[in-house]
Amino acid sequence: MPQRTMPEKKTPIIHPPASGTRVTFWGVRGSIPTPGPTTVRYGGNTSCVEVRAGGEILILDAGTGLRLLGQQLAGEFNGQPLNLTLMLTHTHWDHIQGLPFFLPVYQPQNHLRILGYEGARHGLDNVLASQMESPFFPIGLKQLPANVQIEELKDLSFTVGEVRVKARFANHPGVCVGYRLFTPTGSVAFFPDNESHAGYRHSPQTPGAEETQQVFAQREDRKLADFLRGTDMLIMDAQYDREEYPEHVHWGHGCVDDVVALALTAEVKRLFLFHHDPDHDDARIDRMVARAREIVTERKATLQVEAAREGMAVELP
Ligand SMILES: [Zn+2]
Ligand SMILES: [Zn+2]
Repeated sequence: MPQRTMPEKKTPIIHPPASGTRVTFWGVRGSIPTPGPTTVRYGGNTSCVEVRAGGEILILDAGTGLRLLGQQLAGEFNGQPLNLTLMLTHTHWDHIQGLPFFLPVYQPQNHLRILGYEGARHGLDNVLASQMESPFFPIGLKQLPANVQIEELKDLSFTVGEVRVKARFANHPGVCVGYRLFTPTGSVAFFPDNESHAGYRHSPQTPGAEETQQVFAQREDRKLADFLRGTDMLIMDAQYDREEYPEHVHWGHGCVDDVVALALTAEVKRLFLFHHDPDHDDARIDRMVARAREIVTERKATLQVEAAREGMAVELP
């Protein structure tokens, strides 16, 4: 019987360790992509951030910004096998829609490990596969040439190579987490969708329940501040300004004043406002940054605040 020779399996290479940690924003918008002349500066693609650290390429969320990252990786690595880790915060559209358009999954030499928590009611695997079923997309998830492995996480702490990761449930409809990554040169926290519990103060109170709600809210916000304590770089949902927030209490998104207050309490070093509202143009986001910096000045603090901008890269030395 002729001996069958197995095709030689390529071992994925480990990427050259970047010196330090580099964080690149590929998509910063919330809810829906917003191309157009009024959003060119901050960008219109939805949630996707790349973190290169300790020789790993980690991707936070798979919004439409993931398509741009895919082009970058395909050009940069030019056919060399890629070993990528994608960590999803949750499976709302604006956090997964880039996956079918991510070039590396169409190249058989690549390996993509997708990590996330339960995709609300149907499991992560099913949710990711269903957006690629035939009524919605011509190529199914199982037909992708790359080795795509989906892992539903049970533990809230794990490691990816040298990077230690802690997850925490966010205050957002359905199952949604935020991550804190401890890289060899500093920590990066990512909470693209989250509302402060302090929002309770804006909502109609159940008579007699005010105190309980306030105690609960304060305790939850304190726990989040403890989780974030000392973070070098916090990327956080600050979708609304103070004027519009009362109309959106309990929608699961942050108000810039609350986010700055949290970052100050948690002694964060740099804050990046994220998940920009689709109705906010560049000028409005500029005003939100100015407001955030005003609060920092009033508190005589040293926190640096910027709005995340598509294409921006930040180094942790
Ligand atoms: Zn979102
Ligand atoms: Zn969401």
